[in-house]
Amino acid sequence: MSVAENLERVRSRIADAAKNSGRPEDDVTLVAVSKTWPVEPIRDVFDAGQRVFGENKVQEILEKVDPLPDEIDWHLIGHLQKNKTRKVLPHCACIHSVDSPGLAEQIGRIAGELGLVPRILIQVNVASDDAKFGFPVGVVRERFADILAIENLEVAGLMTVPSYDADPEKVRPFFAKLRELRDGLASEHGVALSELSMGMSHDFEVAIEEGATLVRVGSAIFGERNYA
Ligand SMILES: *Cc1c(COP(=O)(O)O)cnc(C)c1O
Repeated sequence: MSVAENLERVRSRIADAAKNSGRPEDDVTLVAVSKTWPVEPIRDVFDAGQRVFGENKVQEILEKVDPLPDEIDWHLIGHLQKNKTRKVLPHCACIHSVDSPGLAEQIGRIAGELGLVPRILIQVNVASDDAKFGFPVGVVRERFADILAIENLEVAGLMTVPSYDADPEKVRPFFAKLRELRDGLASEHGVALSELSMGMSHDFEVAIEEGATLVRVGSAIFGERNYA
């Protein structure tokens, strides 16, 4: 299978999952996760119509921005070290992985200096997994008003990365919990928080059923990654 065929298959699975949950297909944006892949397969996926790509490292975005088309929207989906904020902001359409109040403040401050208003998502550790980045649920609730008050940030929604489980039904409760948290924060603070970034190659259909608007899909499009 070519990456273009894989992309087509993922797109139709997204459409089916949206339809099955009574949602319009265009409610769900596919983020093609191109981390570890070189420019050529990314260009093939671009040529097949994909425009939003996700990377988990600042360095990889910086290396790929120049050789690939300007029409690409790059999303940062991995942990951002504060000292890399200035480098990545001009190249990044959305940061999914804002995982501390200090990072949110840093992004707002540097965005102000650069004249940008980046879209960000608050990463939440819904499973309270020590091995994962993200705000604990209690801290999101406590600090949300402070985060909304930061200038030069568009807080578009929430994101989560549950631990891998071969059975997607096992992670469904975490997706539901993120949606419930979003619904609560949105009504309490009177903001839309329309984006829910959740779901990867093996569980994006379940995530869509639970309300995902951004699904981050890598291996189902590009194939298995080789980290060697
Ligand atoms: C790598 C990665 C993905 C994509 O994972 P696949 O299983 O290849 O779809 C999604 N989200 C994050 C945060 C990632 O780091």
